[in-house]
Amino acid sequence: MADSVSCPECGAETDTADDLESGPTVPEIESDDDGTISLYGNQDLFLCSNCQATLGVSL
Ligand SMILES: [Zn+2]
Repeated sequence: MADSVSCPECGAETDTADDLESGPTVPEIESDDDGTISLYGNQDLFLCSNCQATLGVSL
């Protein structure tokens, strides 16, 4: 059973990927203990199809 996602901006509920807008691709950032950062991979953002708020990233 899949969970639905409620948009924090407009409250629209989404429970299928078809209802999500694919957003820009962003890299993952990992910060190290010494303060440096590492970038790796790319994840697609999912946007609310109603108001374009960012809801999450695909894994
Ligand atoms: Zn929304």
